[in-house]
Amino acid sequence: MTSGSLNARRRERELAELASGERVDIAVVGGGVTGAGIALDAASRGLSVALVEAHDLAFGTSRWSSKLVHGGLRYLAHGELGLAHESAVERGILMTRTAPHLTRAMPQLFPLYPSTSRAQQAVVAAGLRAGDALRRAARTPSSVLPRPRSIPAALALSLAPGLSAHGLRGALLAYDGALVDDARLVVSLARTAASFGARILTRLSATSLSADLVQARDARTGSTVDIHARQVINATGVWAGTLTGSVRLRPSRGSHLVLAPGTVPMGTTSVNIGVPGETNRFVFLLPQPDGRVYLGLTDEPVPGPIPPVPVVPESDVDFLLSMASSVLARPLTRADIAGSFAGLRPLVEGGGRSADLSRKHAVLAGADGLLTVVGGKLTTYRRMAEDAVDAAVRLAGLPASPCRTARLPLLGAASRAELSFVDASPRLVGRYGTEAPRVAALGELDAEFAAPVGPGTEITAAEVVWAVRHEGALDAEDVLERRTRLSLVPADAEAARARVAELVDKSLAGLG
Ligand SMILES: Cc1cc2nc3c(=O)[nH]c(=O)nc-3n(C[C@H](O)[C@H](O)[C@H](O)COP(=O)(O)OP(=O)(O)OC[C@H]3O[C@@H](n4cnc5c(N)ncnc54)[C@H](O)[C@@H]3O)c2cc1C
Repeated sequence: MTSGSLNARRRERELAELASGERVDIAVVGGGVTGAGIALDAASRGLSVALVEAHDLAFGTSRWSSKLVHGGLRYLAHGELGLAHESAVERGILMTRTAPHLTRAMPQLFPLYPSTSRAQQAVVAAGLRAGDALRRAARTPSSVLPRPRSIPAALALSLAPGLSAHGLRGALLAYDGALVDDARLVVSLARTAASFGARILTRLSATSLSADLVQARDARTGSTVDIHARQVINATGVWAGTLTGSVRLRPSRGSHLVLAPGTVPMGTTSVNIGVPGETNRFVFLLPQPDGRVYLGLTDEPVPGPIPPVPVVPESDVDFLLSMASSVLARPLTRADIAGSFAGLRPLVEGGGRSADLSRKHAVLAGADGLLTVVGGKLTTYRRMAEDAVDAAVRLAGLPASPCRTARLPLLGAASRAELSFVDASPRLVGRYGTEAPRVAALGELDAEFAAPVGPGTEITAAEVVWAVRHEGALDAEDVLERRTRLSLVPADAEAARARVAELVDKSLAGLG
């Protein structure tokens, strides 16, 4: 196996190899969860792979998710049993085999107020029981995701002390999966793919695609490069339709607000608030391991050109604040908002409202032989990747072994029992798994690396150095925006920016 370290030096070397005309089996365009998943699937089957990403790993939708590993409950309500089962199976694989270090069980509270009718309560309870049946069918143990149950109001208030006690008659409590961070999953996938020899090339924008050629521009030098492949796969998510005419997408915006630690007393339990008039739509208050709380999400169609980074409109802010305030002891105001983010769902064109469009994925072969994979969810990336690589193998007649990713731990993964013995702080183990002691060791070698990069964050200089040496960060923005997520609260990013920039420059110089 090759090293799983991604950095500027490796990028330069591998780009030169490809520019010299070397042909790979598979070139995948897009460095989100789908593209990184495809790179890992293909490389671990023994195929040679190049991944081409215009900006940075997880630049697109993959970093703007709710960071949930869904069990597929909402698909049941749409009668999509196969999709619900697939989601539950993939959740189980991530939580028990491939990425236990990046995932956790998140308790979910459905508070019951007078505005929730007995009939609505019965519908939610039946849904949670069905969700638990999916968990059992997917063979995910209840020790990983406990069974749902009804709890009295006093227990609900002790789990989520910020809830209003007024009229609270109890709650339903269930469990689903959550990621420590979505961008970290993408980086881990890309690094694991790199450990099987995949070339992961960021800052390389594809300008035209065909079945066997990617023409790209290097954003660092301005030069153009042709990448020859036996099969090209377009995995550019919501941008897929800009590179091929064979797919039509209907992007839908989902917005989240970020609340600073302590704004809403939450503990570790998320709160689900039913959207009035809808049986299967909820707004979530999602507590994160760093104490921040995400409040999301909306689902609005976004016609027209696709922005590189979507913004949250005021109407989404109003909707989310009023939904959360309807169940909180202290209503939220705009002054409580520390940050916000929005992402565009890459929904495949179909009839109906965007909230009703299927989250199924599609692998499409264009008349020109180019493969495009779109749709799906973060949770089901592995299955999308398997289907896309199977299609590529068939179409191009590639000599590949069967898919093995369902049993392939990502770099840093280990069982929960093994992780509990890793010699590093729980925060580092939650982000780096078995690699956490190597990150911590940077701080032991040099005391200045053990210190946080800014006030109000626990993220250390060592993590910035690690991001540059091993996680493919090429500048301070990569670190602030995607390796650490400090930018989700702009004030935190500003406070750390100068220190992070200094560390990135030093670390890049150290790579030689
Ligand atoms: C608000 C929101 C919340 C969500 N929450 C969840 C959740 O909690 N759980 C869940 O399972 N799913 C969730 N999803 C769905 C999930 O996030 C997406 O399905 C998934 O991230 C899509 O990944 P992708 O790799 O296909 O696309 P992207 O992550 O968008 O990746 C595409 C990449 O292609 C690159 N690219 C574009 N054009 C080019 C080019 N010309 N050359 C090279 N590269 C290019 C982009 O820079 C980008 O990095 C959510 C989606 C949204 C919008």
